[in-house]
Amino acid sequence: MSTATANKYLVSIGLEVHVQLKTNSKMFCACPVRYGDEPNTLTCPVCLGLPGAMPVLNIGAIKRTLRSGLMLGCETPPIVKWDRKSYFYPDMPKNYQITQFDLPLCEGGKVPLYDLAYPKEVQKNIPEPGKNIALTRIHLEEDVAKSTHHASFSSIDFNRAGTPLMEIVSEPDITTPDEAFAYLNSLRQILVYAGVSDADMEKGQMRCDVNVSLRPIGQKELGSKVELKNLNSMSAVRRSLYYEIERQGEALDNNEIIIQSTRRWDDSIEETRLMRTKEDAHDYRYLPDPDLLPLHTPDLVAEARLDLPELPHTKVARFEKDFGITHYDASVLASDQNLADYYEQAAAGASSAKKVANWVINNLLAALNEKNLDITDCPLSAQSLRELVDLIEVGQISNSQGKEVFIALFETGDKSPAKIAKEKGFEPADSGEIDAFIDQAIAANPGPAGEVSEGNDKAINFLTGQVMKLSRGKANPKQVGEGIITRLRP
Ligand code: ZN
Ligand code: MN
Repeated sequence: MSTATANKYLVSIGLEVHVQLKTNSKMFCACPVRYGDEPNTLTCPVCLGLPGAMPVLNIGAIKRTLRSGLMLGCETPPIVKWDRKSYFYPDMPKNYQITQFDLPLCEGGKVPLYDLAYPKEVQKNIPEPGKNIALTRIHLEEDVAKSTHHASFSSIDFNRAGTPLMEIVSEPDITTPDEAFAYLNSLRQILVYAGVSDADMEKGQMRCDVNVSLRPIGQKELGSKVELKNLNSMSAVRRSLYYEIERQGEALDNNEIIIQSTRRWDDSIEETRLMRTKEDAHDYRYLPDPDLLPLHTPDLVAEARLDLPELPHTKVARFEKDFGITHYDASVLASDQNLADYYEQAAAGASSAKKVANWVINNLLAALNEKNLDITDCPLSAQSLRELVDLIEVGQISNSQGKEVFIALFETGDKSPAKIAKEKGFEPADSGEIDAFIDQAIAANPGPAGEVSEGNDKAINFLTGQVMKLSRGKANPKQVGEGIITRLRP
């Protein structure tokens, strides 16, 4: 945001995130949750909203919500219930959504903002590293049908109607568009770790409404909030907030009153447009759903606690400690659970877990990126990568030869590094040969050789380079360096 706005106003941003849960069946009926089927083929009287149809709870969805809540440090009230939220829904014919009002599955909790979850260009300069964003609650509800608007008519597909939706509501603790971006990214990472959703915003598996308000610095109570809709990517959330904060700042500068309202983000012109002024919460006329009994959760919570996955930041700390790698490298590796699993397999028992990390981050990720492949499609097994790094570490092949072997492995995917190295004729130079190269390099470079004798360590590197050239990369630089020292500093 501009410095003018930042100097005058405090910004409060709260996010409501809807996440489609990965379940086999829908929230209140046995219809399958699937994408890409013929429209209106995955339906029944319950998810079509026909009168008198009776909803039945999907325990799998409840367990996944509890699991997410426990990973996010939420409280889990012992009794929860379901309520009807009345509204005119063109895509929900019963005209109420079954959701949770006063007794949700999870309360409180927090989302830790990970450094690498911020937009790339601000990662080096995070104002409050390690900040946590407090959560208000997490509840479970049903998704509506999907409407599509054509030129002269609209169509509606009920395959999506009734998909379990987990709604995660944050406190208005977020203060910048970059933090909102980091929040969504960090939350997504945790939900993917939890295995409850793929949480891909571009695929609509994670949808986000944003509330943003400004107030003059020094004022205690929050300003009127404006809700932003139609945000289809994390980048759209960030850009819409930059725009909206500036718009509200200018309005307040001109003594305009901000009214509570909902605005639509138009990604093509990068502006927000007024949709409506906001109904109050009581307009929804929440009432307990008489078709669904309240649920006693302690047994489900106890069960969920038994197999909670490791959180991303716990994994980062463990990688740093167990493998001796930097916080940054550990964060890159743990940013994706599959990547973390791959690294862990490759590093287990490797002669240098740190070198394995370098190879994964510098070579493997670049190669995957170039071919537009995901780590789960990696042609090179974790074991092959470990063997390759080991070959280099023990001096069987040089680092540059290792890169050639890596390329061959990545392309074929089916050979062992040792076999490829052999096929390419990469044999370690024998020590007699190396000694001869050292003598040759010293004879050809009397100046640097003299400097080494006088104690100049920099000149060792120069001579090592010469020997490496003579050996065409076969020599082990560490052994060469030692050989030079033995020769010149007897
Ligand atoms: Zn159904
Ligand atoms: Mn909702």
